[in-house]
Amino acid sequence: MSGKETTSSLFPPEEAGGKPVSQAGGPRGAGGTPSTQTFGRGTGAGGIGNGGGASGRGQDARETQGRDALATNHIIRVAIESAADSEFDYLVPEELWPIVVGQRVEVPFGKKNKIEAAFCVVTDVPRERSFAGGKSGGKLKSIVRRVEEEPLLGAQLMELASWISDYYVCPLGQVLAAMVPGAVKRGAGVKKRRCVYLGDGWEQTPGDGVVGAGPRACPSSSEGNHGGLPLRGAKQKRIVEVLRERGAVTADSALDAAELLEAADCGAAVLKKLADGQVVRIVQRKVFPDLPVVPEGMMPAKGRDVVLNDDQRVALEHISRQVQSGRFGVTLLHGVTDSGKTEIYIRAIEEVVRLGKAAIVLLPEIALTAQTVQRFAARFERVAVLHSGLTARQRNQEWQKVRAGQVDVVIGARSAVFSPVGNLGLVVVDEEHEPSYKQDSTPRYHGRDVAIKRAQLAGAHCILGSATPSLESIQNCKLRDSFTLVRLPKRVMDLPMPEMKLVDMRDGRVKEHHLSLLSDPLAERLAEVLARKEQAILLLNRRGYSNFVFCSSCRHTLQCRNCDTSLTFHKVRRPLANVTTATGSHMDQGYAICHYCLAQTLVPRDCPLCGRKMTMIGVGTQRLEEELARRFPQARVARVDSDSMASQDYYRLLQEFGQGRIDILAGTQILAKGLHFPNVTLVGVVSADTCLYIPDFRANERTFQLTSQVAGRAGRSEKRGVVYVQTYFPEQPAVKFAMAQDFEGFVREEMKHRQACDLPPFWRLAIVMLRDQKFEKLETAAHAMRQRIDDAVQRHRLEAKIRGPMPAVISRIERFHRIQIIVQTPDASTMRRLFATLRADRPIRPAVKISVDIDPVNLL
Ligand code: ADP
Ligand code: ZN
Repeated sequence: MSGKETTSSLFPPEEAGGKPVSQAGGPRGAGGTPSTQTFGRGTGAGGIGNGGGASGRGQDARETQGRDALATNHIIRVAIESAADSEFDYLVPEELWPIVVGQRVEVPFGKKNKIEAAFCVVTDVPRERSFAGGKSGGKLKSIVRRVEEEPLLGAQLMELASWISDYYVCPLGQVLAAMVPGAVKRGAGVKKRRCVYLGDGWEQTPGDGVVGAGPRACPSSSEGNHGGLPLRGAKQKRIVEVLRERGAVTADSALDAAELLEAADCGAAVLKKLADGQVVRIVQRKVFPDLPVVPEGMMPAKGRDVVLNDDQRVALEHISRQVQSGRFGVTLLHGVTDSGKTEIYIRAIEEVVRLGKAAIVLLPEIALTAQTVQRFAARFERVAVLHSGLTARQRNQEWQKVRAGQVDVVIGARSAVFSPVGNLGLVVVDEEHEPSYKQDSTPRYHGRDVAIKRAQLAGAHCILGSATPSLESIQNCKLRDSFTLVRLPKRVMDLPMPEMKLVDMRDGRVKEHHLSLLSDPLAERLAEVLARKEQAILLLNRRGYSNFVFCSSCRHTLQCRNCDTSLTFHKVRRPLANVTTATGSHMDQGYAICHYCLAQTLVPRDCPLCGRKMTMIGVGTQRLEEELARRFPQARVARVDSDSMASQDYYRLLQEFGQGRIDILAGTQILAKGLHFPNVTLVGVVSADTCLYIPDFRANERTFQLTSQVAGRAGRSEKRGVVYVQTYFPEQPAVKFAMAQDFEGFVREEMKHRQACDLPPFWRLAIVMLRDQKFEKLETAAHAMRQRIDDAVQRHRLEAKIRGPMPAVISRIERFHRIQIIVQTPDASTMRRLFATLRADRPIRPAVKISVDIDPVNLL
């Protein structure tokens, strides 16, 4: 029986985009064929296909396309970018051969032969191994086009894709599609320029005279007034001279036409004549306009002459040895903020560059500030930057630079782990504990874990850096030989750790009013800081103005009509116009937004049920801004969160803050990341509790991380910093350990709970999420899925705990009900066996949307 089918139980036909026509079937991973190289990882216990022969199913559906294709022997296997969870075999017409692995082609797919983009994953599949098995090979369809002349992905990235497809239970085509930026596929910003070089005719001309052209000159002059003399006048001569001087004698060395005309000081008509006469030749060449991606100003390029302290030296020596060994390994660099981690990354990369290799540095998107980018750009000449703040043209330009091998360091967000670095020596994952490294749409990969895998495939070293490493990484250091923990326990130059002060918000005396967001101690300290012309950062991890709009008499709350959530009130700068509608009068200061589906709605002044006034409770950054304006009218306050800014504005704002033109930055967690502002002497955590009670087993870990991270922003110079942490739950371990800056203590305590509950990092977790607009149908499908899982567990005698089906924490999003099944297994290989089995199964009926999240990070 063939292993994998397009319509597997995990990817029902609705999502898979139609019936298979030329199904590749079994040979995936079968020994001896080229496919073994590409998919070796897929075989064995974790494999998806079981190497069986072709099944009869699907063969009849295959259609013949173009008899001429029969003449060729070339068959390739492709993964289609749209969702089909299978690979397919196609014939390649002679004129389109050769095609290599990693190259993109267009193929007719499905009954209607819709043209789809696909990646070649196996080249030259032997006919007897193609799905047709020799007897009906001629019925394969033919590819219609090569999309690019060069493969977009090399062998190593193809292997990585295959691993991601298996591990994260995602169709290979979707993984491949996600690995190459859209801007690259579209060729964004590529300009075709006309370039000029001297034709053969000219080269054959003896001597250095510029008057005589070669024998082939001017045979077809359209104007006929050359009279056989190809070079007429000083202008034509000058053009030829310039081309000779600059050695523009081949297509590769051709000179830009505009540049040439300027140098020769003449117009296009002259050039055309020479081209008509074939004295010169004109080629179209793809060029990238040089779009600067490294912002300027702001930070002096220092660091080169910094003398490493003892801890840093030990860390760097260890890493350098690893890099030189050319073998895979991981270093977990656990260093408090300002312990000099970034300096270690930079020096490790310098070592990598000395060895003639290149490095990838991953940062959380929001840490990709101008400051960080500049810091690397100041130390390395050949840098590429990849993040969402770039234009499509810039992104394509940067990617092409990397592929052309013109780059020593790639700095980027999560997906930069896929950048086409040829000779990889090091991958750095900064802030490795960051949840944003997990992609929350397919392919649901974890950037850190893919980085480790990529380093392994490349025989490269991997550095994971953090002030608060994830429990997963801590555990890996304990259990795996390839992982080493290295500590930087002190801040550089013996900077003191900031002083931590707890404010117990349950105590009514600490606030001027029960609705105040700022306690009196924090407000008083803020006043002092402002008086000394120093700066403050206030963190409140919740956007908007109020996160709860409700009627205090009948308890009616404002809910999203598409999702099972309450709406957040967002204020606008100017009052809204036309707020009286058929349903009555609405608040004009703003509107309510659902943070899941982004639906917006006006907020009625009066409760639609009982007619009393609506109230807003809960806190948000907008309310904080308002309170600051009221209590500190003289202070210059800026709010930083994803509502208030596009990334360009964000960079500008940080710049102004750095220059001292803003006194207080108030905002969400984006302030907790890698910012260096020596004049910041006060950090206020307005509420340490915002993460504590979200229903997620990592809530404590997040609370600890966030509080420690933002605390690290204080006192990054001689001036000692102070951190005020406001909380309603001072007894919570996460808060207590964060106050004591006791990471080890926190880890010990938290690990106990995780172990007791068989949670990560001890066991592995996966969530199967089923979605549909119709609840009954969804429930039936969810129970069928549970049955399948139970069967697979029994059949393979797997150790697993299965919970559900149960409603997801947010049980409805965008009108889709959400039911989940939670799977826990003691290790990754058990998880892979389970999902490989499910994937090969026939589809679940009734068909609903199903997604699998392996190692989930967001449990809502
Ligand atoms: P981290 O990444 O751990 O927050 P950084 O590498 O950014 O730490 O170092 C913080 C600051 O201290 C930077 O400005 C850096 O140039 C500087 N620095 C790093 N190492 C040293 C050192 N050994 N002596 C003096 N300054 C240092
Ligand atoms: Zn919604």
